[in-house]
Amino acid sequence: MSPETLKSHILALVQVIEGHADELTALDQAVGDGDHGINMRRGFAAVGDKVDEIAAKPFGAALQALGLTLVSKIGGASGPLYGTLFMATGKASPAVPTSVADVAAVLAAGVEAVKQRGKSDVGAKTMLDVLVPVVQALQAAPADPLLAVRQAADDGLAATKPMRATKGRAAFLGERSVGHLDPGARSAQLLLRTLCDRIETTP
Ligand code: ADP
Ligand code: MG
Repeated sequence: MSPETLKSHILALVQVIEGHADELTALDQAVGDGDHGINMRRGFAAVGDKVDEIAAKPFGAALQALGLTLVSKIGGASGPLYGTLFMATGKASPAVPTSVADVAAVLAAGVEAVKQRGKSDVGAKTMLDVLVPVVQALQAAPADPLLAVRQAADDGLAATKPMRATKGRAAFLGERSVGHLDPGARSAQLLLRTLCDRIETTP
C-alpha cells in the first residue's frame, strides 16, 4: 500500500469520527459521561495532524504510531482501548495483510489485546460487541468479506441495545443502561464500515 493510499484511508477515519462526534457524545450522555465524541474527535484530530508522518511509515509501524497518538490524546477508557487495538494490530502486521485469513489473524491479535486491556469480552455492552463478531465473521472465510464485516458490525452494534452494561462507566447504571446503543460499539462500527467503503472503492 502506498503512503498516499494509507494516508487517504487514515483521513477517512478522521473524517468519519469528526462527522459523528456529536452523535457519539449523545450516545454517551445516555449511558456514560457524555464525552465519547469529544474524546474520539480529539484523538483522531491529532492523528489527522500527524498523518503525513504516520503514513510514511511501513504499514505495521504506521498503525502502531496511530495507536500511540490515540493513547496520548484521548483521556477516558476509549483512548487506551482504541490505542491498544491499533498498536496490537500493527504489531501483528509488519506488512499489509493480503488474504482474508491474514486480515482475520491480524485483527484478531488486536482485538485479543483489547479484551486483555479492558478485562472484558462480548456481552458487556462495549466496543468488543462489534469487534469480536467482525473477527469471527472474517475467520469464517466468507464469500463476500466486506459484506460479512459490515453485517457483523451492524448486528454487533444493534445487539448492544438490549444489553445491560457490565464494563466501563455504563456499568454504574445497571438496568438503566438497557435500551441504549453503546457509544464505543457505534464508533467501532463507524470505523469498520469506513474501512470497508475505502477498500471497496480504492483501486
Ligand atoms: P469513558 O468511559 O472513560 O468516559 P469514553 O466515553 O470515551 O470513555 O468511551 C466509552 C466506551 O469505551 C464505551 O462505550 C465502551 O464501548 C468502551 N469501553 C469501556 N470500558 C471498556 C472495557 N473494559 N472493554 C472494552 N470497551 C470498553
Ligand atoms: Mg465517556
